[in-house]
Amino acid sequence: MNTSTSSSAPQGALPRIAVLATGGTIAGSAADVTNTAGYQAGVVGVDQLLAAVPALSTIAQIHAEQVASIDSKDMALALWTTLAQRVNALLSTDDIDGVVITHGTDTLEETAWLLHLTVKSAKPVVLTAAMRPASALSADGPLNLVNAVTVAASPAAHGQGVLVAFNNRIHSARDVVKTSTFAVDAFQSPEVGALGWVQDGRVEFQRSVVRPHTAATEFVIGATWPDVEIVASYAGASRVAVDALVAAGVRGIVVAGTGNGSIHASMQQALADAVSQGVAVVRSSRVGSGHVMRNGAAPDDAFGFVTANSLNPYKARVLLMLALAAGGTGSVALQRAFDTY
Ligand code: ASP
Repeated sequence: MNTSTSSSAPQGALPRIAVLATGGTIAGSAADVTNTAGYQAGVVGVDQLLAAVPALSTIAQIHAEQVASIDSKDMALALWTTLAQRVNALLSTDDIDGVVITHGTDTLEETAWLLHLTVKSAKPVVLTAAMRPASALSADGPLNLVNAVTVAASPAAHGQGVLVAFNNRIHSARDVVKTSTFAVDAFQSPEVGALGWVQDGRVEFQRSVVRPHTAATEFVIGATWPDVEIVASYAGASRVAVDALVAAGVRGIVVAGTGNGSIHASMQQALADAVSQGVAVVRSSRVGSGHVMRNGAAPDDAFGFVTANSLNPYKARVLLMLALAAGGTGSVALQRAFDTY
């Protein structure tokens, strides 16, 4: 991990913000300025990203670290551990007032949610990203970065959990999802909407996060992760994938079900068999918004299934991994975690 500071000028009372870079399109580069689809993600270093935005030095004192240089489709559990531990270490000192993480958009919502549950500080943690590479005409990364640092430097962001600043909006890590392959307003919080907005140095929250997060959770980041996989239900789904996962020894399976987390009868029987072999099964929905009701589309009580509340399958997997790692067993304890967070 390389560290650097973007400005050495004495800056009085400006907040001290750590910018942790992990790669992504915000650090992407293409051969041509008009190219926004064929490019290499994660190749522009954090110092170059910061140098492209001199205005940052009027908002905060920046401490920069290159934690990784990846396309976030390749995010790994070991890197999650490294990143969460680094965020916690930085925030535990009096030298840092907030953290900004630059990330690829593909798995940003998963990393943000993981940190929302495992960061042990009320100081702001803000993720941001870009839909267009740094080399593109109208690249969205520089303004997203300015806005993320602005939010992290704002007292209003304290105690709000992990946030995502994107396209002038501030989202909660719990609710935000990527909803478009290329649109610059790709990040939305379906059903509940954004928490607020950031524009021209002004930060405004219009609602706050109700469910417990950060220091109020029972989760800590560990070095090992229980194996949890995701399967989808669809017309003609069979039991093949579920049986293969159980044979491979997974600890949990999240189902991206149809509608209210409903599951094809063949797959559902395989999942019921999986529970009887000690595998945790969580029903979520592939629909993209809304919550899954217990016993509404499957006899959860009879089969020992858990429902994901309003978490999408990818976020449900993160919570299931953390709950299993924390020693949660049985559908009652696991359902409590999904109903709490
Ligand atoms: N594949 C890129 C990534 O997630 C996409 C992006 O950042 O927009 O790293």
